[in-house]
Amino acid sequence: MTAEGRRAQIRNQLQEFGSVQVSELAAQLQVSKMTIHRDLLQFEAEGEVKRVHGGAVLVTKVGGGAEPVKDSVPQTNSGECLICHRPPTQHLLYTMTTNSGKQCQACCPHCGISAHILFGGQIIMALTADYLSGRLHAAQNSWFLLGSVAAPCCHPSILTFEDEQMARRFQTGFGGQIGRLNDAISFLREAMTLDPNKEACPHCAAAQGAKS
Ligand SMILES: [Zn+2]
Ligand SMILES: [Zn+2]
Repeated sequence: MTAEGRRAQIRNQLQEFGSVQVSELAAQLQVSKMTIHRDLLQFEAEGEVKRVHGGAVLVTKVGGGAEPVKDSVPQTNSGECLICHRPPTQHLLYTMTTNSGKQCQACCPHCGISAHILFGGQIIMALTADYLSGRLHAAQNSWFLLGSVAAPCCHPSILTFEDEQMARRFQTGFGGQIGRLNDAISFLREAMTLDPNKEACPHCAAAQGAKS
């Protein structure tokens, strides 16, 4: 396979899954891990991906749709949520990279989705923790459980799962609806417009109130 062909394969997988693993690609394409590393380095230099431990995730504009504007995402202290300033926990962590390369984090997927709503195209990449394992994975690959009664952090509850079956099992026990990243954005947007007083998270509401 030519280098071009190989890179096209990697791009296909990135488009399909949102992220790739170096070891899997090396095995599939029968090249060394170093070769895959170099490809990913090149993709990163071109701004297509962000390398993470053991692989890379696709850089996508999520949420907004508007042209990227100047980065107005607040700089927060590490260890606090950019929306409500609560300390993030590992199983709920939601991390984001802005178009100017700034890293920020949210206490839970609820606040992460709030950040997508507030800052739109300025957030070019998001990773979310699996609620069971705490493993970070690309938010656009994740399964979101929306509005279940399991609400360990902000209201309405949004939990993320790497595995669809696990999300569905959780749904069986705790209710709510299953969706992908864009569904989560519409869900939260709607929840906040429909009943801002009852449904909105007090922490988030305060933070957004202060902003506007
Ligand atoms: Zn928060
Ligand atoms: Zn939270």
